[in-house]
Amino acid sequence: MRVLGIEGTAWAASAALYDGPTDTVHIETEAYQPESGGIHPREAAEHMAEYLPKVAESVLSKAQAQSDGRPVDAVAFSRGPGLGPCLRLAGTTARAVAQRLDVPLVGVNHMVAHLEIGRHRSGLSSPVCLNASGANAHILGYRTGRYRVLGETMDTGVGNAIDKFTRHVGWSHPGGPKVEQAATDSEYVGLPYVVKGMDFSFSGIMSAAKDAVDNGTPVEDVCHGLQENIFAMLTEVSERALSLTGSDELVLGGGVGQNQRLQSMLASMCAQRGADFFVPGNRFLRDNAGMIAVLGSKMYAADDTVAIDASAIDSEFRPDQVPVTWRGANKQ
Ligand code: ATP
Repeated sequence: MRVLGIEGTAWAASAALYDGPTDTVHIETEAYQPESGGIHPREAAEHMAEYLPKVAESVLSKAQAQSDGRPVDAVAFSRGPGLGPCLRLAGTTARAVAQRLDVPLVGVNHMVAHLEIGRHRSGLSSPVCLNASGANAHILGYRTGRYRVLGETMDTGVGNAIDKFTRHVGWSHPGGPKVEQAATDSEYVGLPYVVKGMDFSFSGIMSAAKDAVDNGTPVEDVCHGLQENIFAMLTEVSERALSLTGSDELVLGGGVGQNQRLQSMLASMCAQRGADFFVPGNRFLRDNAGMIAVLGSKMYAADDTVAIDASAIDSEFRPDQVPVTWRGANKQ
């Protein structure tokens, strides 16, 4: 089975081909880079309008060159959550291709795809997942047909919080890699640490970090404190989720997951518990259509497709709204 994936939730205009028999994923992405500030929804949508058709056609022509018949068996697209204007263009692109090729359409939840790519590539059977991305931060665990949200941010996504801080100090988007770089070889600065039960909050620590820089603390030291506290909060709640569920498997998802310090905190926590820990490669952590194509293939195999006229996007689509159809009878 071969599936075309289309991703367009925020910054990545991306298309991918998943080839089931060889378990290979080919991804092509055009990244939106704001000239100033953070992601502007209108500019991001213009980027999608320009590049989604191009990456989709490029991947399709590669698929066609490898096939005697139809290039793909299904088209999967990110249905949400994300920026509405971008999602609408991803949906329109996917519908147009599915209709033209006369193949089924699959509507994928972007956050479940962040989880499933880790499960798929690790071979772990039922891991807990920490999704640390730009617009989201939550911990998911599977129970009775759904991915349950075991803990989540009470305010902003983790990457968005970091990016707001870096905008404040005048650094260009995205801020996460710059904070990671600045945090090496600098001193720890104490900042708020907010975990409430299974949930966490980033707004207080971000305000304190901005104030610290405004009051003369070296920005590198503030970056160090930010990373230590934010990632320790995520690690603490991930550990509690493992304990609560009795699971001994953790996978990481989302663009912030590319951070080496976060990976090393989670790895040592898992090592201390004797739990398996898996990090997909960077090309599967940041937004990408490969994860959409892979989950799309599982949903297609489970007959979990959507009619064109019922395939509206949902910018607030939560992972626990998704009936997990692909983990039962067909054992995917
Ligand atoms: P979502 O999946 O919630 O839609 P998104 O669309 O913002 O998220 P992602 O690619 O998952 O996209 O994540 C982007 C975020 O990752 C940005 O906020 C960016 O600053 C952050 N990021 C990228 N690299 C790093 C890094 N090395 N350390 C910390 N954060 C990083």
